[in-house]
Amino acid sequence: MAQQKKRRKKKISRQALILRWIMIIILVLLVWFAVKKIASAFKKVDDSAAVTSSSSESTSQTSGADDIITDSIADDSDGIVIGAGDDMTETTAEKENIDNAWAMFLVNNQNPLPDDYDKRITVKKVYSNGDRDFEFDERAADYLINMFAAAKKDGINLTVNSSYRTIEYQQFNFDRSVQQRINNGMSYDEAVLDTEKEVAYPGKSEHNAGLSADIFSDEYVSFDDDGFKNTKAYAWLMENAADYGFILRYPEGKEAETGIIYEPWHYRFVGVYYAHKVQESGLCLEEYFKANGWLDENGTATQMTVE
Ligand SMILES: [Zn+2]
Repeated sequence: MAQQKKRRKKKISRQALILRWIMIIILVLLVWFAVKKIASAFKKVDDSAAVTSSSSESTSQTSGADDIITDSIADDSDGIVIGAGDDMTETTAEKENIDNAWAMFLVNNQNPLPDDYDKRITVKKVYSNGDRDFEFDERAADYLINMFAAAKKDGINLTVNSSYRTIEYQQFNFDRSVQQRINNGMSYDEAVLDTEKEVAYPGKSEHNAGLSADIFSDEYVSFDDDGFKNTKAYAWLMENAADYGFILRYPEGKEAETGIIYEPWHYRFVGVYYAHKVQESGLCLEEYFKANGWLDENGTATQMTVE
């Protein structure tokens, strides 16, 4: 009897011991998870701080942390694979958050729009300066309208100076420019090459997609220089455009990648999700496509193409 009691006691104390060990293991695991979570949160804060400081650097040109900023930019461009790597691969949860994925396509010399694109889209009036109405792809029109309304609330009066142009109109513009050059003594080939420097080839202009607008403000309007970058409106756009799905399409320092001069006025709708992604990456759209493996070696998009 006494022996049985003793055995039971032993059994109970062994169970207690096992239970205690299980508790210790769970506790260790919990601490480990917590440490990991905190570490990754800190890493995220670091990353986003780097992005914000580098993008604000280009707009306000604050001095001070210049060296660090330059370093982080250099890291980004060298390490398209690293810098981009983590941020660019979308998790399943993120993919569900992607809005307007249809708008994420490239329009440039390597990626012209289909000839019948004018017929594929419906456009909607987004702005009027009294003399002229400006139109946009109706799927994205409200984003532009809302952005303008938000800017106005902050005391910024944005203006549209060009938006949707039909491929037909672009062709008319292009041909007229070629003809002028021929009249001035150039051969046809010379005239076409020279025109291409100034006028986008029909179907190769983002304006033909109905997703781009040349935006200025009542402070400053000039296509001849980049003075718009020194305005309050530009600073506002740099800070807020992504929230409405817009990116600065031809950034300063990316001329070699985009093939277009720095245009502080040209904004492109790519959807809110991708606008933030592109802006955070510090890459231009061509580079972003490349970093995601969406381009072949000729720069032609193999994924995320026009629907
Ligand atoms: Zn433009």
